[in-house]
Amino acid sequence: MAIRRIVSIGDPVLRQVSKPVARNQINSPEIKKLITDLIDTMRNANGAGIAAPQVGVALRVIVMEVIENPRYRYKPAIPLTIAINPTLTPLDDEMVIINEGCLSVPLRGELESFVNIRVTYTDENGALHDEVKRGLTAGTWQHEVHHLDGVLMVDRVKDSSTLSTWEEYDKFHKDAFVKRITEFVERVGS
Ligand code: ZN
Repeated sequence: MAIRRIVSIGDPVLRQVSKPVARNQINSPEIKKLITDLIDTMRNANGAGIAAPQVGVALRVIVMEVIENPRYRYKPAIPLTIAINPTLTPLDDEMVIINEGCLSVPLRGELESFVNIRVTYTDENGALHDEVKRGLTAGTWQHEVHHLDGVLMVDRVKDSSTLSTWEEYDKFHKDAFVKRITEFVERVGS
């Protein structure tokens, strides 16, 4: 188990466009170790997902998992997903506003995300996937894929007055958001 240091906003690696992983590198010891460390680092930080640039590696690799996460109790479960070279295409223009946090930014804020998206990616075994994601799960995918293009949640916040620290979010915003988003998740199913 190796937990890597999570870099914070201001580190230039978070602003790079990450490079794709070559197909013949997916089985390399470096990529296998990167994936294992991303999983350990995400779980240790109670994150719903993490992208390789967040541990200082500018490669297009993300991992996601939500299992009874104390940070995101309202989130529907996401089985452990490893996505190499992910692509994302909105299926329509339906949007949802989600109050999001980020392991690299000490703030939360309200972001607009597509509700219905198509994702393609290669998994850790080299298998290709083509799937539809909806709701909050789609929001998590969009958050992580944005990291691969150097985009942070603060760039996507439409109204900066929604930014808050975790402490003030808990105090002033959490209850209303969790109520609204729980109803949304029930409606969309994810
Ligand atoms: Zn993030």
